[in-house]
Amino acid sequence: MLKRLRYKLWSIRYHSASRERTAWTAARDWSLAVSLALAIVALFVSEVFVARTGTVREVRGKVYVADGGPFVAAVDDAAARHLTRDVIGLPTDAEFAVLLQRAERGWPFASADAPTRVRLDLNILNEVGTRIDAQLVPDEPRRAAITGALRRAGHDELISQWRAVESGEARPRRSWLASLGSIMVWWLMLLAAANIGIILARAGAIMIFSHHADRAAERLARGRCPTCDYDLRGLEYSDRCPECGALVD
Ligand SMILES: [Zn+2]
Repeated sequence: MLKRLRYKLWSIRYHSASRERTAWTAARDWSLAVSLALAIVALFVSEVFVARTGTVREVRGKVYVADGGPFVAAVDDAAARHLTRDVIGLPTDAEFAVLLQRAERGWPFASADAPTRVRLDLNILNEVGTRIDAQLVPDEPRRAAITGALRRAGHDELISQWRAVESGEARPRRSWLASLGSIMVWWLMLLAAANIGIILARAGAIMIFSHHADRAAERLARGRCPTCDYDLRGLEYSDRCPECGALVD
């Protein structure tokens, strides 16, 4: 049984050894491994340079100047109009937008998610322009008012994500399936490029070789050394060129 299996393996090897091994087939074999290695590098490079930032969630609202304290805020939410009742009649201090953002990285597939970030845009009415990505510490009065409004409107998850982002707990996530898919696409592209390169190089080599062969034949026909063009006419016959030692025949 084992003997028969061994014979079978040997016979497969014997019959499949018919492919001629040349520098070109070796180059093609190497291109398989090298392009795979480059495809893995390409995955990480694409994650550095290709990023699509998308806003996952957006909560807008207003900050008001409160009677007793400095600020009170409320979200603009049609479904929770009753939440804004407390602020009716209060002067508006600012408009705010809290944006939950996620960046997808990698090409052609999104193989990695950058850490989620939370951006606060604040348009304070007595300031010119909007503060995009206003960096406010948690106990800053406007920020505290906004956090309070988010909590009253039930956006506890957004608050905890905001806290996680600021404390550096939010980590990038990797999709292994998308990573594998991207590597496959890169590999196929690099392999195709390598094969085109090998075919072109081979065609070039054949052209150069045939050019050399033509020139050697032409020199020989004129009675000259095919290698160094030394004039062999009138010399005693020898199978080697007296100038460069190359075989003449
Ligand atoms: Zn010669």
